[in-house]
Amino acid sequence: MLYSKLVDVYDELSETSARLGKIEAVAKLLKGTDNDNLPRVVLLLQGKVFPSWSDEDIGVADKMVLKIVSTATGFPENEVTKKYNETGDLGLTVETLMESKRQQTLGAKHVDIEKVFENMKKLASVEGKGSQEVKVSIVKELIMHSSPKEAKYIVRTALGQLRVGVAEGVIRDAIASAFLGATEGDEKKVAVKAIEWAWFMRSDYGEVARIAKDRGMKGLRGASLEIGKPFQVLLAEKSPSLEEAMKSFENFQVEVKFDGARIQAHKDGDRVWLFTRRLENVTTQFPDIVEMVRKNVSAKKCVLEGEIMAVDPESGKPLPFQSLSQRIRRKYEIDMMVEKIPVQTNWFDIVQAEGKSLFSETFRERREILECCIREVTGRFQLSKQLTTKDIGEAEKFYQEALQAGQEGVMVKNLDALYQPGRRVAGGWLKVKPIMETLDLVIIGAQWGTGKRAGWMGSFVLGCRDEESGEFLECGMMGTGVKEKKTEDDDITFKELTEMLRSHIVSEKGNMVTIRPKIVIETAYEEIQKSPNYSSGYALRFPRMVRMRSDKSPEDADGMERVGRLYVQQKGGK
Ligand code: AMP
Repeated sequence: MLYSKLVDVYDELSETSARLGKIEAVAKLLKGTDNDNLPRVVLLLQGKVFPSWSDEDIGVADKMVLKIVSTATGFPENEVTKKYNETGDLGLTVETLMESKRQQTLGAKHVDIEKVFENMKKLASVEGKGSQEVKVSIVKELIMHSSPKEAKYIVRTALGQLRVGVAEGVIRDAIASAFLGATEGDEKKVAVKAIEWAWFMRSDYGEVARIAKDRGMKGLRGASLEIGKPFQVLLAEKSPSLEEAMKSFENFQVEVKFDGARIQAHKDGDRVWLFTRRLENVTTQFPDIVEMVRKNVSAKKCVLEGEIMAVDPESGKPLPFQSLSQRIRRKYEIDMMVEKIPVQTNWFDIVQAEGKSLFSETFRERREILECCIREVTGRFQLSKQLTTKDIGEAEKFYQEALQAGQEGVMVKNLDALYQPGRRVAGGWLKVKPIMETLDLVIIGAQWGTGKRAGWMGSFVLGCRDEESGEFLECGMMGTGVKEKKTEDDDITFKELTEMLRSHIVSEKGNMVTIRPKIVIETAYEEIQKSPNYSSGYALRFPRMVRMRSDKSPEDADGMERVGRLYVQQKGGK
């Protein structure tokens, strides 16, 4: 199948902003795609070659693409850079440069989808010495065999900036239309539900499309979890208070909400797979957990869920999330990391045991099965700590103890609820954690954006005041909360914020800008962490702009003292 067929659809997608139009274009393409290419097309439509749960990444940077474009088109690198600076888009750059050379090229050139897909995949697998040259030649080969327009999309895909990519919802609806003939009304609702179920089980729309095409509704509804492939987990809803949460269910248990990372473990005999909440495969990073699952889980075949935390090797006490993220990111010298940062696993659910799906068992039943399956190793491999009580005083004490122990809060779980994959549903889990007060911080730097945010500052360095020196110290990078388009009156767009900051630019280096501290932003965040990467020694996790505080001058902004106090308070004053 020719790549140009996909490219035509990319063009169509970039011209239609209407969702229905997009669905129609994608559905038509899916219908005309053969079985072998279906998974490839579905991924390429999303600008990807790996499902989101794969631990592989195409990983090509702007700089390398500049080089590739230069060697493939014969234009010197500085000319390519100049064009890139004008357009802010390397895809357009390669297209324009190739167009301008067109007269010299004989005949039309075309690549096929399989070739593009396989070359993109190869990009992820080359590593080590000489890998740069190999990557250059892989993309160059594609460009040399492409039309200018095809080259544009190849370059954008390699950079992970397809721009016309379609969201998963569009793919889902296109599958409904293409293979189930469902485009509206109840018929569509039923089809979408079946497709979603299959997606919850397989987490890969390529595979879901193939199931829909080959086996229709029956195949989709019957899709089951496959050991070794991650599924979309049950999500929690927020509750304003413990009391409120306890009023929501008739029968419930309160569990510690551990401050770590969610893990799903799949076991089939001696084989074990581990996936994170974002469904990344982290089996290699955690040989210690793999070994413990092998030894301490009695079921031969099962799928478990739990939360992992890093612990201090001496005291066994939980360590902040950053220590764990070092383990998650680490790809080499893993044995050394296992020693340096040991982990503790707290299991809280089981969704498959000995080949039987447990999604339609109640939580009470699942917890019982879980308790039978796990042999606890104190401090390392345990069942999540829980309390069954209806007494608010007792539950409050349990909650306070969890906070004192450095955990995030508690989960209140409905004992009568079934497991609903991939959903935040009423009736399942309610999370209770202390509400973090917002901070008023000052913008002291920014990074120029790329892609949709090209030409504007795309993320902002936040600073808090050092009371001693009067200087502002970095405590985070924020992009969330600032809007691409204005939909509400008090929305602030990247463009507006950039205009406000432009006159305060002190210096620029690469794509980073230093900004005179003038503008105060009220910032919400999930958590304050210690961090050596920022001059304040603190980093806000998931900072988000709440509003501009034009009524405040930088001198009124929050200082180190308050940040430090909130850091301590969030851990129950520990
Ligand atoms: P949140 O990420 O704030 O929506 O909270 C849900 C997350 O809390 C889950 O995805 C888990 O990673 C984590 N978690 C920690 N302890 C538990 C627990 N006992 N039960 C369920 N989830 C937990």
